[in-house]
Amino acid sequence: MADVIASPVAPAPQRVTILGVAIDDVTEDEALVCAETLLRSRRPHQICTVNPEFVMEAQRNPAFAATLAAATLCTPDGYGLLLAARFLGTPLRDRVTGVALTRRLAHLAAARGYRLFLLGAAPGVAEMAAAALQTANPGLNVVGCFAGSPAPRHEAFLRQMISAARPDILFVAYGHPRQDLWIARNQPHLRVPLAVGVGGVFDYLAGRVPLAPAWMRRHGLEWLYRLVRQPRRWRRIIDAVPRFTLAVLRQGRA
Ligand code: UDP
Repeated sequence: MADVIASPVAPAPQRVTILGVAIDDVTEDEALVCAETLLRSRRPHQICTVNPEFVMEAQRNPAFAATLAAATLCTPDGYGLLLAARFLGTPLRDRVTGVALTRRLAHLAAARGYRLFLLGAAPGVAEMAAAALQTANPGLNVVGCFAGSPAPRHEAFLRQMISAARPDILFVAYGHPRQDLWIARNQPHLRVPLAVGVGGVFDYLAGRVPLAPAWMRRHGLEWLYRLVRQPRRWRRIIDAVPRFTLAVLRQGRA
């Protein structure tokens, strides 16, 4: 049985635990309300956009498991989490994907004057993603875009660059678990109130990787779309689909 505990965010969403990883039962609207509360606090907060691959990685990577546990908000990004939570008897109400959260945060930032920094992805992609967000949200203040690298030897330089830009919201696109571990290590030195790990979101926003068609997303078939488009991800998809399913079935029986 999955257990439900209170999250540290006000207004506190319920948390659903799947294979030891606590995920906040938030809708997109609620995630936005939380984000605004976090931004107003001016203290550092981390958001992780969790999918089944995160949960499986957390089983074998204690540092990543600890980072997810310490994050202020873990949104249910992957459809598989909704199926698992329902099976375990503690349903999650909705998905909050990294793409949707990034778009909504950009909209909020344009309305409230928050400053954005986009870190990660291949050179030039963050700039293209920022341009797409600015087209959709005129007046959006993007104070930095940089591909950089998640390698520890680059951290001092990146910290300096990001601190100097003084963003309110930092999106980090180095893929999991690197982006989330990067935020956990570096955010205490950045004075950035909100940092969000967003995986391949810049690639989507820049139009370099298409989103799965709506009907596939509705039926939880994004993994199949990704497998066909990016066959090199097969190892990750085995983790996210059959291994995750088996592990959840085992948790349900325990
Ligand atoms: N990436 C990067 N530097 C690295 C490794 C990855 O900038 O050293 C970027 C990559 O270009 C892509 C994103 O991180 O934009 C990873 O996307 P993916 O869809 O694999 O994210 P995940 O599913 O792991 O969250």
